[in-house]
Amino acid sequence: MDIINKSITQLLCVKRNHNKIEVFKEETNISSWKGMLYYFPYKYTDRSKIYKIGEANLNGLPYIQLKGRIVQYKYIGEGESRKLSAIFDDGTGAIELIWFRPSKWISKIYKLGREYILFGKPNPYGASLSFMSSSTYKYYTSSILPYDSNRLQLGVSIAHPELEEATEFYEGLVGMHGEYSTTEKMKKVSLYPQFIKKMIIEILENIKDPLPETLPKEIIDNNQLMSLDEAIRNIHFPKSNDLLQQAQYRLKFEELFYLQLSILSIAKHREKHIDGFRFKKIGENFYFLKNNLHFELTTAQQRVVNEIWKDMNTGKQMNRLLQGDVGSGKTLIALLSILLATDNGFQGAIMVPTEVLAIQHYETISQMLNGSAVKVALLTGSTKNKLRGEMLPKVKSGEIQILIGTHALIEEGVEFNNLGLVIVDEQHRFGVIQRAKLWSKNSNPPHVLVMTATPIPRTLAMTIYGDLDVSIIDELPPGRKPVDTYHKYDEKRDKIYEYVQKEIETGKQIYIVYPLIEENEKIDLTNLQEGFQTVKERFPQHNVSMVHGQMNPEEKKQEMQKFLSGEAQIMVATTVIEVGIDVKNASVMIIENAERFGLSQLHQLRGRVGRGTTKSVCILITPQGLSEDAQKRITIMTKTNDGFTIAEEDLKLRGPGNLNGIKQSGFDSNLKIARLSQDGDILDSARNIARRILDDDPNLEKRQNIMLKEQLHKWNMENQTEWFGIS
Ligand code: ADP
Ligand code: MG
Repeated sequence: MDIINKSITQLLCVKRNHNKIEVFKEETNISSWKGMLYYFPYKYTDRSKIYKIGEANLNGLPYIQLKGRIVQYKYIGEGESRKLSAIFDDGTGAIELIWFRPSKWISKIYKLGREYILFGKPNPYGASLSFMSSSTYKYYTSSILPYDSNRLQLGVSIAHPELEEATEFYEGLVGMHGEYSTTEKMKKVSLYPQFIKKMIIEILENIKDPLPETLPKEIIDNNQLMSLDEAIRNIHFPKSNDLLQQAQYRLKFEELFYLQLSILSIAKHREKHIDGFRFKKIGENFYFLKNNLHFELTTAQQRVVNEIWKDMNTGKQMNRLLQGDVGSGKTLIALLSILLATDNGFQGAIMVPTEVLAIQHYETISQMLNGSAVKVALLTGSTKNKLRGEMLPKVKSGEIQILIGTHALIEEGVEFNNLGLVIVDEQHRFGVIQRAKLWSKNSNPPHVLVMTATPIPRTLAMTIYGDLDVSIIDELPPGRKPVDTYHKYDEKRDKIYEYVQKEIETGKQIYIVYPLIEENEKIDLTNLQEGFQTVKERFPQHNVSMVHGQMNPEEKKQEMQKFLSGEAQIMVATTVIEVGIDVKNASVMIIENAERFGLSQLHQLRGRVGRGTTKSVCILITPQGLSEDAQKRITIMTKTNDGFTIAEEDLKLRGPGNLNGIKQSGFDSNLKIARLSQDGDILDSARNIARRILDDDPNLEKRQNIMLKEQLHKWNMENQTEWFGIS
């Protein structure tokens, strides 16, 4: 059916709103009708009741829905304070509607005398203002229909109501209405949820034939699923709560089913066609490091290194997840494992999410291997072309044995001689597809070890890693003292600085972290720079370094180096230092505007201190008047140091989708409707069905699977880069 591929610019309600539509496309990447139908609401309001103006006391109700006609428009006031007032009459009574700073189109779009369904919030003021004291307000009447002014209810009005023509189609949408999320950028061009709803209504009204089914009939029947057509209509305008739930189930099921089918078919392919490299011996590189450590491996570290070595010697490809709280010593495990690869004549790579972390890993690892014959190199997106040009042939020839870097490692043009092991540090999004990219760099896929401090829920691990094995470090190196965490309000900053002063005098180093969220990048950067100035002025006798994401790599490196070497006592930074950074001598972590950080972020940041044996402190600074959720996050942080507890709380607290444009950090944000934290059961069932189908027909060649093959192909085209997207 072609109609669903029409462009949203062809919608009537979009006319005169090109600017809005451009922003919408940019923000959501949606340009077709189909895309709109899959832009699902994040919550619902009950609109089953239509109130009568004459019969109810409207004030005090949170929202009301009315059905009636606009009988009069008046412009009131001038300039900034210009308003548009209208009288809305439903036959039992009338109330005033108000638009502040109205667009000139309103009175043209909503026609006098035509019947509308109105939705809005009643305010206990308004009518009296414009109609009673008209002498102080200039007003211009644009048009009036005859109506009985006695019906007008004074002392109640509705500002910026939602109005929808009372067509048969619209009235058929009684029941619940979806609410759509918008981003800050959308709001700036007055693109409100209401407008999104209008687009969806127009699309649904125009699609007369049922939407073509996207799941095979057997799956629908066996699982008693709603048809796609019904599900899409009910997800936007559910006729009842029960139908809403059925619609949600169907759409979640489908989403998770194709996701699993995609993942499992890749895994199947791998099982069938691939042998794992065997790392048989432990050689001089491994022993070089082990013998030069000036501490003992913890029992947990020893156990995990053993697990990994065994795994890399089975003839199968290793896919292992290593979980261990911040500071538990994962880097060392990474390095020991990679040295096993080099001892067996293979190369190894370490991939990390940020340049700052790549640089640090490179420095620590080079230093630890100083005196050995192992050759290490650093490759990031900003490695100069010349250097890159010199480096790549050495990677290809195998001369460089360990390559450390960011996503640049899996880009085109990077070729290895024989990549045996890839370690992915602190990057949950490194999914099946990215790993597949790595394999393509080799005749055989390398072993893969993914390391994270964030315990990943089972459903999520199953999804990203398919059939991953898990190792856990459940022990911190000896002598660590838990970090004490305090919550302080802005007013206390002087006191905090006095404390900082004392700590520096005893030879300690301090982090001060500012938030930086994409949406507010400019403001945040200004805040950071102002913060930097303030800190420099407050501590004139000390060196302060600053790092943020927008700096050029050279600057970044220098500023990091200043802090690593101890030349700078204070580091002012954004969350670029969130993961992995390791400075043992740092004992105070101050987080400004801590209310704007998520729980796992706060935990990661706090993990930057308490890495040596001295007592460390984390101070969360916030303004007064925190939201309930922010308060909860802060309280959890002050109460526990345990990464597992924090991860659980984090999952519980995380709200819906991409609300208000602040991107969620979790994997869920790539799903349109399913939530891995809640929909484990649906995932299980979808996965089992997908597995059964593939066991029976691995390449989906049988006749009954034609549709699946087609749909899977489409799904892969539409979702893979998004799902496993490389940013
Ligand atoms: P994370 O697990 O957060 O990546 P790191 O690997 O950065 O932790 O290690 C944190 C610190 O602990 C590093 O400074 C590292 O040198 C040190 N460390 C690692 N293992 C041990 C150990 N067995 N005994 C003492 N210190 C260790
Ligand atoms: Mg680490």
